Amino acid sequence: MADQIEEVKSKIDIVSVIGSFIDLKKAGRNFKANCPFHGEKTPSFMVSPELQIYKCFGCGESGDVISFLEKYEGMEFYEALKYLADSVGIKLETSGFHRRSDNDKLYQLNQYAKKFYEYILLNHKAGKLALSYLETKRGLTIEIIKQFGIGFCPDLPFAVKSYLVDKKKFSLDDIERAGIVFKGQRGYVDRFRGRVVFPLYDHRGNVCGFAGRILPGKEKYDVAKYINTPETPIYHKSNLLYGLETTKQEIKKKGEVVVVEGELDLISSYKAGIKNIVALKGSAFTTEQAKLLGRYAKKVILSLDADFAGDAAARRGITIAEGEGLEVSVVELEGFKDPDDIARKDPEKYKNLLANPVGVWDFIIDTTVLRYDTKSGAGKLKIGKELVPILAAISNDIVKAHYIAKVAAKLNVPEEAVIKEVEKTSTDSIKRTTILPNEGQNAQVERREILERSWLSLLLQGKTDKIVDRKLTKNFQSPIIKKILDELQKFTKSRSWSVKNFSKSLPQELRKGFNDIYLENGLTVDYDKGERKKELTLIENELKILEIREKMSKLTSEIGKLEAEKKFTLLTKRQKDFAELSNTLSDLEKT
Ligand SMILES: [Zn+2]
Repeated sequence: MADQIEEVKSKIDIVSVIGSFIDLKKAGRNFKANCPFHGEKTPSFMVSPELQIYKCFGCGESGDVISFLEKYEGMEFYEALKYLADSVGIKLETSGFHRRSDNDKLYQLNQYAKKFYEYILLNHKAGKLALSYLETKRGLTIEIIKQFGIGFCPDLPFAVKSYLVDKKKFSLDDIERAGIVFKGQRGYVDRFRGRVVFPLYDHRGNVCGFAGRILPGKEKYDVAKYINTPETPIYHKSNLLYGLETTKQEIKKKGEVVVVEGELDLISSYKAGIKNIVALKGSAFTTEQAKLLGRYAKKVILSLDADFAGDAAARRGITIAEGEGLEVSVVELEGFKDPDDIARKDPEKYKNLLANPVGVWDFIIDTTVLRYDTKSGAGKLKIGKELVPILAAISNDIVKAHYIAKVAAKLNVPEEAVIKEVEKTSTDSIKRTTILPNEGQNAQVERREILERSWLSLLLQGKTDKIVDRKLTKNFQSPIIKKILDELQKFTKSRSWSVKNFSKSLPQELRKGFNDIYLENGLTVDYDKGERKKELTLIENELKILEIREKMSKLTSEIGKLEAEKKFTLLTKRQKDFAELSNTLSDLEKT
């Protein structure tokens, strides 16, 4: 098994795999990008084709091509390996991976359950009532029903369970783990019995769970209208965007996505011709959803139930989405209950509204102001209480200032009053703790460490002829750099240079440190402009200056001592040394 992992990894290029998900830009021998794991505007994320690793110097995420897929795509180890193996035509021996393919089994199980539900809805008499509800009451066509894989679970306790256990030979345990049955008082029962079932896909196209809607007339006081698969190893509600599997191409093409709340809002809109659309399965964005959506489009138009403006969770979600770089606007469905309603009754009006959305903060401010009395002090206080946290959370300062002015005008109060309130609640000021530069000795040690690291990193981006030149490096002080230099000297004596082989030759405890050092310099140096050599010379110069300063400060204390002890011969000698160093220093500082 270990052999196969190595075989797959040797045929894969980490740069092309990561590059298929995010934009990578060449930086010397490495590649850089804005980190996909944390929000940032300037790149801290580096990928090395030679070492076949990535590392973010902002958030610390690092690893190889498999761990990238695990983290970015949410694959488990075996899935990631299989994904890569498939792409280079290697067939994995499944036996060795048996235990790791657990999720695979759950996906497969869900796939069978989906087929079963579909079959019941479209071909079985137990699904007749449900089918006529979808066609006549919901206005769905067979084509749309098939496109979204909608099904029906018979109103019997064990229908799907019998199919999966007796016919497909899955264990009851696995079916429960997939969330298809649950343990009731009298044993296992089909979770979605008597419900129209919507399969839920993860963004890679696996059926990871289901949503079930009870048929009208069957609602009892103790039964929820909608239920979902509970959290399972493969279903995570916060990661899911309903419909994405069907609509992602259209979303990417338009660079814009309409966001609705529920399955039927989405399907009706889709049927009306709005195909760049997803459903949140709720009204609030999670970070995961915002990140996922950001892969396909940056412009988001919210088409939610009108009361979302008063919903604190939904507003937090918008702040999250904006924090992930999404540009959020809103349409108001005046006179209609929800997107499903307008899509079925007046699709043309719906499309017009979507073509002219309002900025999300304008919308929230306007609707909040409408709910209270802007003339009275109490009304102003209430409006302020609702809007100030929202203003405080806007990440762009220019946008923030714009809306502070707007709120001040609406309330007829001075802007400064609003600014003061916003500053009080601003969470930003807590995060932005400034790092004070250390003074004196400490600062010199730190500066030296930085210079030594940068020097080595930059050196390794080019030819390595200087590595064995110990004139400069003999006074290096960073323990890790010194160890690496020793190893380098040994390595270059016996073997021809290769970063990859060198990294491999290092003892485990040094390798990670070395890899980091090797990657970190692509961030600041513009290699295209030939800045590497210039930067190297500058660093070497500064190191020499540091060294002289260190010598001079030692001499100063020695001279003081010699004076006190009246050892004049030696004193004169040391004073001469000092003067020489001082001259060299001023020469160096001129360059
Ligand atoms: Zn990061």
